[in-house]
Amino acid sequence: MAGGTQMLIDTLAKKLSPENIKLNTKITALKEVENELSVETSNGSNFKADKAIICIPPQLAGLQIKFSPDLPDNLTQILPTVQTWMSGALKFVLEYAAPFWRNNGYSGMLYSHAGIIMEMYDHTNFEENKFGFTGFLSGGASAYSQEVRKEFVLRQLAELLGKEILNPVSYSDKVWTDEFVLAGNQIIQRPHQNNGHPLLQQSYLNGKLYFSGTETATAFAGYMEGAVISAMKISDKF
Ligand SMILES: Cc1cc2nc3c(=O)[nH]c(=O)nc-3n(C[C@H](O)[C@H](O)[C@H](O)COP(=O)(O)OP(=O)(O)OC[C@H]3O[C@@H](n4cnc5c(N)ncnc54)[C@H](O)[C@@H]3O)c2cc1C
Repeated sequence: MAGGTQMLIDTLAKKLSPENIKLNTKITALKEVENELSVETSNGSNFKADKAIICIPPQLAGLQIKFSPDLPDNLTQILPTVQTWMSGALKFVLEYAAPFWRNNGYSGMLYSHAGIIMEMYDHTNFEENKFGFTGFLSGGASAYSQEVRKEFVLRQLAELLGKEILNPVSYSDKVWTDEFVLAGNQIIQRPHQNNGHPLLQQSYLNGKLYFSGTETATAFAGYMEGAVISAMKISDKF
């Protein structure tokens, strides 16, 4: 995506007034109080709403938000089983001053069952003024420190692309298990398990509460495309 995927978020944010975006504000409770919803947050602030749309991974909603009255049992049982795409993945990024692999006739794409890197792509930007790779490491690598992961990544790539790989401008990686993705739980689930589930298409708390977000999408669930599809579907309801 030209400009990087952050551009998508920045462009959407510009269309809203800043006071309507609350950063670092985690929803902890949603209560039905007469004809309204009371929304509680981790920093103690409280909002009143006619309706609420939950756009966080359903697993997190089930684990982190206290609903009052309780949500129906069949929904409560489903929420922890809705797989969050790529949760638990280990993603790495390597940046180089020049695209030496391209100059040597390599695509920079890699699939491997041996070594720490399982999948890798040329991640040169659209403008072709930043060069590098991005990819995924084998799940077991989360047990290593970042320094060790970097060493294994460079060793594997040096065998394939030569010594120039050993001098990156930068290396970074991230284990996607934090509280905003997976709540720290490494549960093995089937990819896209229960994504787009019929129970996620219904409203709750007397028509005041809806679910949206990519895991609720009935097409391309789990991907950015699914997030857009689910947003369009829910906006049609209001
Ligand atoms: C490592 C990785 C690689 C991926 N690669 C691709 C790819 O190549 N292509 C692709 O299409 N998709 C990819 N995805 C999936 C893509 O990121 C998602 O489909 C997309 O971000 C979903 O958008 P969303 O708006 O539904 O939810 P999210 O982007 O998950 O947004 C949910 C937001 O809710 C916030 N939040 C969480 N808990 C709370 C709470 N209690 N209160 C308030 N806010 C909360 C989170 O901080 C987050 O900002 C990848 C995901 C990961 C993790």
